[in-house]
Amino acid sequence: MALRHTVDFLLYNWLSVQGLTERPRFADHSRETFDAVLDTCERIAREKYAPFNRTVDIEEPAFDGEKVILPACTQDAHDAYVQSGMLSAAQDEDIGGMQLPYTVEAAANAFFACASVSIGGGMLTVGNANLLMKHGSDLQKQVFALNEFNGRFAGTMCLSEPQAGSSLSDVATRATPDGDDHASDPLGPRYRLKGNKMWISTGDHELTENIIHLVLAKIPGADGKTIAGTKGISLFIVPKKLVDPQGQLTGERNDVALAGLNHKLGWRGTVNTLLNFGEGKYPVRGQAGAIGYLVGEPGKGLQCMFHMMNEARIGVGLAATMLGMAGYQASLDYAQNRTQGRPVGPAGKDPAQPPVRLIEHADIKRMLLAQKAYGEGALALGLYCARLVDDLHTGDEAQQHQAQWLLEVLTPIVKSWPSEWCLEANSLAIQIHGGYGYTRDFAVEQYWRDNRLNMIHEGTHGIQAMDLLGRKVLLEQGKGLKILGERMQATMALAYDATTQAHAQALQHAWQEVVETSHLAWQGDNPTLSLANAVPFMQAFGHTVLAWIWLDVALSSSGHDAADLGRRQACQFFYHYELPKIGAWLQVVRTRDATCVNMPEDAF
Ligand SMILES: Cc1cc2nc3c(=O)[nH]c(=O)nc-3n(C[C@H](O)[C@H](O)[C@H](O)COP(=O)(O)OP(=O)(O)OC[C@H]3O[C@@H](n4cnc5c(N)ncnc54)[C@H](O)[C@@H]3O)c2cc1C
Repeated sequence: MALRHTVDFLLYNWLSVQGLTERPRFADHSRETFDAVLDTCERIAREKYAPFNRTVDIEEPAFDGEKVILPACTQDAHDAYVQSGMLSAAQDEDIGGMQLPYTVEAAANAFFACASVSIGGGMLTVGNANLLMKHGSDLQKQVFALNEFNGRFAGTMCLSEPQAGSSLSDVATRATPDGDDHASDPLGPRYRLKGNKMWISTGDHELTENIIHLVLAKIPGADGKTIAGTKGISLFIVPKKLVDPQGQLTGERNDVALAGLNHKLGWRGTVNTLLNFGEGKYPVRGQAGAIGYLVGEPGKGLQCMFHMMNEARIGVGLAATMLGMAGYQASLDYAQNRTQGRPVGPAGKDPAQPPVRLIEHADIKRMLLAQKAYGEGALALGLYCARLVDDLHTGDEAQQHQAQWLLEVLTPIVKSWPSEWCLEANSLAIQIHGGYGYTRDFAVEQYWRDNRLNMIHEGTHGIQAMDLLGRKVLLEQGKGLKILGERMQATMALAYDATTQAHAQALQHAWQEVVETSHLAWQGDNPTLSLANAVPFMQAFGHTVLAWIWLDVALSSSGHDAADLGRRQACQFFYHYELPKIGAWLQVVRTRDATCVNMPEDAF
């Protein structure tokens, strides 16, 4: 089934996004306007992204000592993306936006991720500008955010440092007040920043007039010491080139130096950098130190960043998903065309018979169905969570309340589940191609390499799992779990025949096991043991959530066309081949299995 067909089904038939137009914010929209956005993005992705996916993989970003050099196709794709208006799609009309629901924005962006994930859309720029719209001063919004939405400036997120990745409380970048008048700068309290930021995506390039870094740093107190932990972290706007309060470049280069590029396994179209802030390479007004403007209150930097988490993690999950879908489409096409071998049984014994196409072998169908179940299931989950974000922002009080709690527990899943299982889908796509899949003559190896990032960035797999089992499932005596369980019950109640009722029963049982295990994991008083198997817990939780999503999708697919049949088969595949896996995952959590904890280091 074509990707657009699947997206349309999920948006309109399953999630009924056209219903959002009844809300005042989206009243000017209709199915036609949503379709127009999807059409435009699909076309740009097809024309400006897909043909260059291999180019950006081969022609990695290079640094000539002055500038970062990217292939010309990246600038073309970037310009087309800016012209589409997608950078400000969700913004108010009076600042040039479309007031598009996030669900439609996320679905439209999925086409770019499928065509070339590393050329990328504007996820970081939009995330950066959205954060400023929420926490910035009026002038910060005007000067920085609005110029990001119109494509003049690009944005980054500078959290990680060489020694501080998962543990951001250890950031060593320091910010000190810049002169006696520092508090009265119209662009915000002005500081000088010094420190190193590692892994910064799109940290340097010539695609835009300027780059606006959002940087986490600590402000030392009068005694020169900083507050330990995340409470001491503040957030700063650090432009690559300084700007005046009208948003014009002053002609001064800020003290932000590109120390080097990271050469990655995949996702090579996106430049990734080590940035040195304030080392004195570009002294500003005769002094070393990068100029930065405080956003919000001191010490609240990480909280400001958290505001962006839901959407950033849905974005990562959808990127992983679309790579899974790209591999699925490629391996389906290959399996329908390559011939190899003969059928099992007497009919296959005759070498004079012509070989059959790969897709006629049951094992190939198994690998295709697995990819379909992972990819389309993840897409459904991603769009479901995007719909919750719309409820959070524009729903009534009850919808907002439910959305907030559901997003608490689903956000680790929407990020991690596609990252793990759509990567597995890419591995199966390579397998279907046999030896050819292992070469650069086919696209699938690149999809796998590109996808391998997603379990690492935006909170590693392990960190997401500890967040789920260590915090999210426990909040307010499991309120998020309770609301999620009610949604599952509502789906189960719709089961209408022997097949869907059997699935509903299996789901009921699985969910009970997950909830029980979330309590059993915390028996005893040893948190190390409770969290030692957080990843298997997250895997079981994720598989159960996906089983629910698949049942819900299958219940909306009761027609007789091939697409509906395909979805029902994928649902059945998930219940027969995938959901039973949760038993093994939950067992080690339930018993707080200490095998890993007790392994002595010298025994490795
Ligand atoms: C291509 C790429 C792009 C990126 N883009 C950005 C960006 O734009 N901005 C930005 O700020 N960062 C970015 N990052 C950084 C990314 O977020 C970090 O790599 C990630 O947070 C992990 O940090 P780390 O690499 O230092 O690994 P570490 O934190 O050292 O983790 C290594 C391993 O140890 C595990 N681990 C760590 N702590 C614990 C613990 N307490 N308990 C159990 N296990 C633990 C982790 O799960 C992981 O498996 C990017 C990274 C990459 C690779």
